Amino acid sequence: MKTSAQIRTDFLEFFRSKGHAVVASSPLVPGNDPSLLFTNAGMVQFKDVFLGGEKRSYTRAATSQRCLRAGGKHNDLDSVGYTARHHTFFEMLGNFSFGDYFKKDAIAYAWELLTGVWKIPADKLLVTIYHTDDEAFDIWHKEIGLAAERIIRIGDNKGAPYASDNFWQMADTGPCGPCSEIFYDHGAAIPGGPPGSPDEDGDRFIEIWNNVFMQFDRQPDGTLVPLPAPCVDTGMGLERISAVLQHVHSNYEIDLFQALIKAASELTSTADLENKSLRVIADHIRACSFLIVDGVLPSNEGRGYVLRRIIRRALRHGWMLGVRGGFFHRMVAPLVTLMGEAYPELAAKQEFVEKALRAEEERFAETLDSGMKIFNEVAQKSKGQIPGEDAFRLYDTYGFPVDLTADIARERGLSVDMAGFEAAMEKQRERAREASKFAAAGNLPSELVAKLAPTQFLGYDAHEADACRVVA
Ligand code: ATP
Ligand code: MG
Ligand code: MG
Ligand code: MG
Repeated sequence: MKTSAQIRTDFLEFFRSKGHAVVASSPLVPGNDPSLLFTNAGMVQFKDVFLGGEKRSYTRAATSQRCLRAGGKHNDLDSVGYTARHHTFFEMLGNFSFGDYFKKDAIAYAWELLTGVWKIPADKLLVTIYHTDDEAFDIWHKEIGLAAERIIRIGDNKGAPYASDNFWQMADTGPCGPCSEIFYDHGAAIPGGPPGSPDEDGDRFIEIWNNVFMQFDRQPDGTLVPLPAPCVDTGMGLERISAVLQHVHSNYEIDLFQALIKAASELTSTADLENKSLRVIADHIRACSFLIVDGVLPSNEGRGYVLRRIIRRALRHGWMLGVRGGFFHRMVAPLVTLMGEAYPELAAKQEFVEKALRAEEERFAETLDSGMKIFNEVAQKSKGQIPGEDAFRLYDTYGFPVDLTADIARERGLSVDMAGFEAAMEKQRERAREASKFAAAGNLPSELVAKLAPTQFLGYDAHEADACRVVA
């Protein structure tokens, strides 16, 4: 059986043999794009190359890019533990053409790797194309020989003109184009329908590889002007392709996750390796460790608050498994054993990561236990919904980010009154504004004002706001 480390190497070596430069993963914090919360795809480090503003010594590249989808435009945090295929942190294998090859070669490479090198049976694969992309249809059908019924045309859906999973664009204007996605059929025993069907959200047909064909430059008036040199940007989840090649269904059953789950089971004395909390902990240790490696520390705003939220979710899962002391930082050593070779920066910072996690564990330990007691009391009294005032109290006094409260509530079939939470938050802001007015008039001691005054983080754009809006 191929390990995920071998699969990563296979991918990079395959594209090296096709003339691609193998480029190292960039950090989770994008260096070239302050508007983006986290690196969420392989193309992020090449954005300026695609836009034509930057030239490299190569026109084809391949990477295994560490990605985070836990805030901002891509947020899969709430799927972790609920689907077989979503992580907060994952590795995206990608090949890129900067005005070099296009659709025909990209599709041929993908097919050769999947069915030629990795020997995936063709009858387990199906693909989607953008509904008007006849060129892609012809390549798949006539050149690759894929049966027409295995090629699904996906149109513009969800009401918005361009909000299709099969039409990609970098922004409202600029490079954009159709995609062709490759799906693997894990078998009829698993619920879920093919892409485009009403029950496509199941886990039977799993999207493994997205091929984006950047061929237009969208103008401010919406028209599409062909790009002089079209580009290719692809992304395949290492964990998803590993599941396929290791003949398991869920990503959590692959070698890498099984090793982390085993470590978590020992640290939390949990025998059932299928326990959802172990999966969440295994997912979250990767996100948290790599965020710290890439310079993020727990805080009350922006990226640091995303990190804090993920750590606290993991700690609450440990608590649920009966852990009352620190355990999460002890997951770093097994992670380094698994990923330290591919990511030397992780191995180099092991001790620093452990310390940072441990400090946050100690901080949250002071309020987690009593916060859970409060939550349980409130949940018992509540009629289907946790009142906003209580969610606010948990946030303000016990350090429960509101998404953590919502996560716990969801497990018990409850929701959180988010509007009520917002209102309580707003009230506190008003109180603080009043307090600072008093202070300005000399009526309050300044330490008290400092304690009351919220600092509101207003960064990033509206899309990112859900991830980082916080009042400390
Ligand atoms: P899905 O529809 O399953 O959520 P996606 O369409 O959002 O996936 P893309 O943005 O097309 O994913 O990313 C390219 C590839 O990265 C996907 O085909 C998949 O293999 C992988 N991928 C995307 N999101 C995740 C995730 N949260 N965890 C693991 N792998 C992922
Ligand atoms: Mg997605
Ligand atoms: Mg998709
Ligand atoms: Mg996709």
